[in-house]
Amino acid sequence: MENERKAKIIAALKRFADSFKTAMFPEGYVCLGCGKELPERCREQSLCPECEGNLPFKTGKCCAICGTPIYVGRLCRRCSAFTPEYDRAYAPFNYRGLIRKLILDLKIGGNLYLVGYLTGYMSDYMKGLSLDFDVVTAVPATKTTVRKRGFDHTSLLAEGVSEGLGIPYSKLLNRKTHKVDQTKLGFSDRFKAVEGNFEVVPDTEIAGKTVLLIDDILTSGATASECAKVLKSAGAKRVTVLTIAR
Ligand SMILES: [Zn+2]
Ligand SMILES: [Zn+2]
Repeated sequence: MENERKAKIIAALKRFADSFKTAMFPEGYVCLGCGKELPERCREQSLCPECEGNLPFKTGKCCAICGTPIYVGRLCRRCSAFTPEYDRAYAPFNYRGLIRKLILDLKIGGNLYLVGYLTGYMSDYMKGLSLDFDVVTAVPATKTTVRKRGFDHTSLLAEGVSEGLGIPYSKLLNRKTHKVDQTKLGFSDRFKAVEGNFEVVPDTEIAGKTVLLIDDILTSGATASECAKVLKSAGAKRVTVLTIAR
């Protein structure tokens, strides 16, 4: 009888340990790119060396403001016609292939352990540029999105970058209104759709500060531009945008 009880306890403990392992490593020790089992030395990286080598790092000539790939001149067509409110936007990756999958795994799939992995790349990229910032902040998500998902992935990314760069994180912006689905809007309509959507958090020190603003991806740049406008009207000296991908 005693042995039977012990066996039951051991089985329950094993179940607990297994569920803990699954929660920490939801995919098991497999590569998030190709699904192959990861070699022991790569298990903290989530990707096998081959997939890591195929990550779409941004290379080549880029627009001097938004970072979009260009072939000639200094600015892309959009920034030449309409200058965004932020000073510069940077991203280590192009938004395609495996990076697109990882971003969706994070924000839709809730695989939060990807935060550390992705912000490692974001921080390393910024370190390479040797720029100075006073504060790291995030493009805020809507309350509804946070409630639905149970987490706020942009603030998690901002906190990860803050830790990686050793620059303090501070929540500087609130989103006032519901997020508009921008996917069906044209370029200039996207800028109009986000107008007035953000406000500064009361009692935060922004005047004279150089701000690193974090988001997951930069598409039209309308949201980042609107956030930069609000930060600058509160006195921010410079607003630089950093996203995972562009
Ligand atoms: Zn792989
Ligand atoms: Zn541009």
